Amino acid sequence: MSNLVPVKLSPAFKDYLWGGERLRDDFHKVCSLERIAESWELSAHKDGQSTVAEGEYKGMTLSEYIQAVGASVLGKNSQKYDYFPLLIKLIDAKGNLSVQVHPDDAYALEHEGEYGKTEMWYILDCDEGASLYYGFAEDISKDAYATAIREGTLTDLLNRVEVKPGDVYFIPAGTVHAIGEGILICEIQQNSNTTYRVYDYNRRDKDGNTRPLHIDKALEVSTLTKSPALPDIDDGDDVLLCSCGYFEVRRLRFRESGVISADGDSFLSLTVTAGEGILSHAEGAVSFSKGDTLFVPAESGACRIEGECEMIQAKVN
Ligand code: ZN
Repeated sequence: MSNLVPVKLSPAFKDYLWGGERLRDDFHKVCSLERIAESWELSAHKDGQSTVAEGEYKGMTLSEYIQAVGASVLGKNSQKYDYFPLLIKLIDAKGNLSVQVHPDDAYALEHEGEYGKTEMWYILDCDEGASLYYGFAEDISKDAYATAIREGTLTDLLNRVEVKPGDVYFIPAGTVHAIGEGILICEIQQNSNTTYRVYDYNRRDKDGNTRPLHIDKALEVSTLTKSPALPDIDDGDDVLLCSCGYFEVRRLRFRESGVISADGDSFLSLTVTAGEGILSHAEGAVSFSKGDTLFVPAESGACRIEGECEMIQAKVN
């Protein structure tokens, strides 16, 4: 028995009203829900844990697996967190997500009893002309923000951006944002499920109910300055997409073969976004294909990848 063996994970699924069919059709997700809005690929959150998909720990939740093999698989960067620090999702926005904002750690720990949420989006695919809201278009006063929420004109003040595959959006806590319809995203975020919904397009669910808004809290935590310019992302085989106080994210492409390496600092989360292959390590091998997520324990050392594939690699900073 070893605690250095990479494991494949099965996600928890969410069928929020804006979800679609692409995670099933294009990412091979097996799930009985009619629509799949999100798959929580790497999750130890109480609202939906991923589970070990195969091997000797099969069926355990990610938390149970970590308990069974020991917290050393997380690496030393995770020691500064009180609980598992990351949450990684695939998101299929067939419809618009609500306009929302997440609190930072200080606010969330005081008011919600969990971490705040800084997140990053990698655009996997999108419809022609798809767009999202990323912060405000200009600096704004709190009064003008509150008025726009009240009058239903908030989206006029937001920074609307057309997206294309490969784009990266870094969303620090406090950034007002909304994923737009027709966008497929890999999201890397802090392990938190706290969202303050500001505007929901006056939508009603099948029972005729609107979803709750959290306007007072949103006004307290929102950043009111113009959103920053977006980074240019290189087209290389190993590209740093984002590094912040919480996580580092890279896009890795393999033509035939290559190596990934997990040192003692952090485990690696590998979400396969195209192609297929085999990851071999000291004690065996794991096959993978588009849509799979692998957890590679810290201190696993070098693992060989065979196959033509692309993956999003995330680790704890
Ligand atoms: Zn968000």
